Amino acid sequence: MQLRAVRGMKDILPEQVRLWHRLERAFCDVVRLYGYEEVRTPLLEATQLFVRQIGEDTDVVEKEMYSFERHGDALTVRPEGTAGAARAYVQHSVYAREPVTRWYYLGPMFRAERPAKGRYRQFFQAGCEHLGDPGPLADAEMIHMTAQILARVGIEDVAIHINSLGSGDMRERYRAALRDHFTPLRASLSADSQRRLETNPLRILDSKAAADRAAVAGAPSILDLLEPADAEHFATLRRYLDRLGIDYVVDGRLVRGLDYYTRTLFELKTRSGELGSQDALLGGGRYDGMVRSLGGPEVPAIGFAMGLERILSLMAEPEAMAGPDCYLAPLGEAARAELLSLGTELRRRGIRCEVDGRGLSLRAMLRRANAMDSRLCALLGEDELAQGVLTVKDLNARQQDEIRLDDAAERIADRLGRPPAAMPSPLPARNTDDPDG
Ligand code: AMP
Repeated sequence: MQLRAVRGMKDILPEQVRLWHRLERAFCDVVRLYGYEEVRTPLLEATQLFVRQIGEDTDVVEKEMYSFERHGDALTVRPEGTAGAARAYVQHSVYAREPVTRWYYLGPMFRAERPAKGRYRQFFQAGCEHLGDPGPLADAEMIHMTAQILARVGIEDVAIHINSLGSGDMRERYRAALRDHFTPLRASLSADSQRRLETNPLRILDSKAAADRAAVAGAPSILDLLEPADAEHFATLRRYLDRLGIDYVVDGRLVRGLDYYTRTLFELKTRSGELGSQDALLGGGRYDGMVRSLGGPEVPAIGFAMGLERILSLMAEPEAMAGPDCYLAPLGEAARAELLSLGTELRRRGIRCEVDGRGLSLRAMLRRANAMDSRLCALLGEDELAQGVLTVKDLNARQQDEIRLDDAAERIADRLGRPPAAMPSPLPARNTDDPDG
């Protein structure tokens, strides 16, 4: 039987990775402008971290985590990045060194969801965590920043949804209000939502089931229940977003699937319709209680994560990778050894080249150089080697001439219009036992 990638997990082949690099670069370029620095935390964390932070009654914890036991430790492959980042922040007492921390991360996350278009079991997220600032300016800037990341890769047709979940026991009070609203409508709800009514009625608001739509549309908005300080935070956030010229939708039923959120919540969705129901490109919100609950001091925080696959599916196809600058075609063993050295010398100058060591015929190598769309092809046979010359073909201009072998690297660099010595040599020039060369 042929082995295949695990269901819901994808190989990303080099021609696709090009597009990934473009998105990752756009993300890094934008967030660095705001002062974010990369953090790398382990893929595995104690299961308890996610159970406590994400919440026991969430879909993620209830049925999507890849959890296992090894040597007596209960471990989980991370389903998201915020809990691990906050754990690292507390573990290393980062709050004691700096009042404000801005971290970004990028990497795979794992959730055993039912695979669908735009929904995978291994997917990549890029995200930011901004700790130590209670907002709402931080909130407005983060929302603005996420829109700019998308704009950098050509995605502008997005709807920005915002909401506030309040603070303190607001979530509990909202749960009770939802229970009061949904209980009389129980019979009309989907089976899942009838169960959620007992465990976590907030999750009914996230339901994609058609049966739940009418009941959800009539549900109370949390915004009507906010305490004055939370309402003020939200009003100020809206004022800042207006000042930044950002269009947004106030969506009092936006809850998102994780329990740790407080106050500001946001989600950016594509309006193009291409992604169907998986239209959320990124989401985030405040988690003012997390650092405290992990054993740290009271540190407010806000973060977001964007799903790279969904964004990539909206980006234009990448251009094909350009061929090498120079293809090195040796005929015979002595020529092979000579071009092995020349290849090293060219790369030291920042020239992309490939040496073909397969012992092919001249015709086969020329065909290969053309197929790769190399700019130059350098041919070395026994006669040329005896005369100390190298034949260089310009495959676009269809010209060829001979250059001296002893300064071939410099001549080739000239021809490619490269500055001299673009790269420092990573290796000693000669292999010798004498430390003085
Ligand atoms: P979350 O961590 O659930 O707040 O999700 C943040 C973003 O990650 C979403 O807006 C999606 O873009 C992406 N995402 C979440 N789950 C998946 C998944 N199973 N497959 C692909 N992308 C996902």
